[in-house]
Amino acid sequence: MLRIWMLSILLLGASGLQAQEIRVGIFHRLDMRSISISANEGSYEVIGDTTSLGMLETVNIKWKSNGVSVTTNGVVHVYDTLLLIKQNESASVKLKGTSPTTKQHFYEDNFELTSSPKGLRIVNRVSMNNYLSGVIESEGGGGRHLEYYKVQALMSRTYAIKNTHRHKKDGYNVCDGTHCQAYHNKLRYTPKIRTAVEQTEGMVLVGQNNKLVTSYFSANCGGQTCDASYVWNTSVPYLEPFIDTFCIHTRQATWTKAIDKYTWRNYLRDQFGITEDIYGDDIYNFQCNDRTAFYIHPSLGVPMRDLRTKFRLKSAYFNTRLEAGKVILEGRGFGHGVGLCQEGAMEMAKLGYDYTQIALFYFHNVKILDSRRNSFFQQAGIGLE
Ligand SMILES: [Zn+2]
Ligand SMILES: [Zn+2]
Repeated sequence: MLRIWMLSILLLGASGLQAQEIRVGIFHRLDMRSISISANEGSYEVIGDTTSLGMLETVNIKWKSNGVSVTTNGVVHVYDTLLLIKQNESASVKLKGTSPTTKQHFYEDNFELTSSPKGLRIVNRVSMNNYLSGVIESEGGGGRHLEYYKVQALMSRTYAIKNTHRHKKDGYNVCDGTHCQAYHNKLRYTPKIRTAVEQTEGMVLVGQNNKLVTSYFSANCGGQTCDASYVWNTSVPYLEPFIDTFCIHTRQATWTKAIDKYTWRNYLRDQFGITEDIYGDDIYNFQCNDRTAFYIHPSLGVPMRDLRTKFRLKSAYFNTRLEAGKVILEGRGFGHGVGLCQEGAMEMAKLGYDYTQIALFYFHNVKILDSRRNSFFQQAGIGLE
């Protein structure tokens, strides 16, 4: 008990002085029965409840309904909580699922393992900066401009703090999947991402009453951002649609798709009662200059988003015309188009805009604040219990 108490003081002291800690559920979608962990860089002390089990080399950890089991010197021990505590600033582990089997992943900072009804609860207790670096690399890949990575850092940090209670019932803040933000590894290949995270440390995007914004983004808005209500039926005050000319010559700015005329016709008829008898060829012809919620006319009641889902379209922003028995769709953009447009933001960064200008171009009536100087961050409750 004394040992845990001392450890908490040490960790609290460290997190108070440095970056905040976030609890990330690893392999949250898998019911992990066993994993193997080894030290990758630096060293770790392994602690089973209140007992030190020495320094980590490789430890095989198995799920039990009443705890986590570890075998040392041929003897099986079951603990309520197994902690892996780093002994050096830049320590990291290699972690691999052995049942079910997973790829090897690398993580920084500390680990806490307990038993949940479905399997091992694996929590990476990681500094916010290390977490965000891992997220941006997992989600974004390499080769981007520093100011673009800084916008990503701002958005991902805002998301993490806003969603700090999303997995409260699971015993952590956020999970490692796209349900929250993809986080599959520590930062490995793109040192620029760490610079971006450090240079924006603490910064978050807030709207009215200093409330954290929902940091929506998509790959390419097609030249006009989308009203959130077209996608989710609710408007978001800081996301009024507007024209974005930064993304219109980028990689995913346009797309085309041909769909069999009868497939199109039958879908409109069966789902919405719109027949060729009444509307003729009009059901194949639509010029969509500004984004709209509905195909052709709202009175027909055909949501663009339903067409997108049904025909697996890159976006819900497209014209249609009939040509040789096919409905030709000429579309713009990729993704839902709400919030930050990634290709537009990349282009802005290339043109020399800084991350605050980029963020404020895509989100309106918002501010960028240092969360470390505002009480709402403390209220968000990221960190040790
Ligand atoms: Zn999640
Ligand atoms: Zn755009």
